[in-house]
Amino acid sequence: MKIMGRVTLVGAGPGDPELLTLKAVRVLRDADVVLYDDLVSTAVLAYAGPQARLIPVGKRGGCASTPQAFIEQLLIREARAGHAVVRLKGGDPFVFGRGGEEAATLRDAGIGVDIVCGLTSGLAAAAAIGIPVTHRMHAHGVALVTGHAADGEVEPDWAALVRTGLTLVIYMGMRRAEELQSALIAADMPPSMPVAVIAHATRPEQAAIVSTLADWPAAAEAAGLASPAIIVVGQVAALATGASVDSGQRRGGDFGQVEHTRQHVA
Ligand code: SAH
Repeated sequence: MKIMGRVTLVGAGPGDPELLTLKAVRVLRDADVVLYDDLVSTAVLAYAGPQARLIPVGKRGGCASTPQAFIEQLLIREARAGHAVVRLKGGDPFVFGRGGEEAATLRDAGIGVDIVCGLTSGLAAAAAIGIPVTHRMHAHGVALVTGHAADGEVEPDWAALVRTGLTLVIYMGMRRAEELQSALIAADMPPSMPVAVIAHATRPEQAAIVSTLADWPAAAEAAGLASPAIIVVGQVAALATGASVDSGQRRGGDFGQVEHTRQHVA
């Protein structure tokens, strides 16, 4: 099939513009059109050139949303018109961003697709409060898991995940905090297992708590933490240095990035 036009799928990182890749900055600067999700921060959009048309196509869960088919048609139309098209997604475009679906649809329509990976929020959020997700004394690896099984989709196999002993980094889990908690307890994870929740990671409004499996939904709610947030489950969560802890005692540590962390007194 003859290639007609190109789209670049770009990861915008977790929010802090300094966590953009140099490649993302270059592609943004040269874009004619940028279609961006609502997780993309305005500080990142500022890197688009003055010629760029910025088109919001967010679909935050539960709110008015832009249908996926509409986004894809718009990308195809703009690419066929010969424009330099950037599809800008929060974090990494291929981590829970439907980037894979968009890339496949574009390729089927004869559009060339380039990928600029980005720093995924799960890893950035953990690092932002000093959690080493694969500290070798505690975890042999890390699993990036969705906490939100879309309608008709099967739930992650929590029992199997717990058995691996891997650090669990859960995306899109805040609306289902209690269900996730119950699922992990039912999967035999001890109630004392450390859990960290980091909202708006790497942004000025970043806030975080460190708690336990038994207490984290209440602790997160008391601290006013809401989506977008990352939930880190595993022994490594106790190594956080930048989050306020459940007891109200701030842990030591000098993570400059988390000066905005909200203090939570239980
Ligand atoms: N592609 C994105 C993930 C999209 S799914 C990535 O790689 O990061 C959307 C989920 O990402 C949110 O529900 C939340 O769990 C997480 N998320 C995105 N940005 C975040 C941020 N700055 N802080 C905390 N969580 C974030």
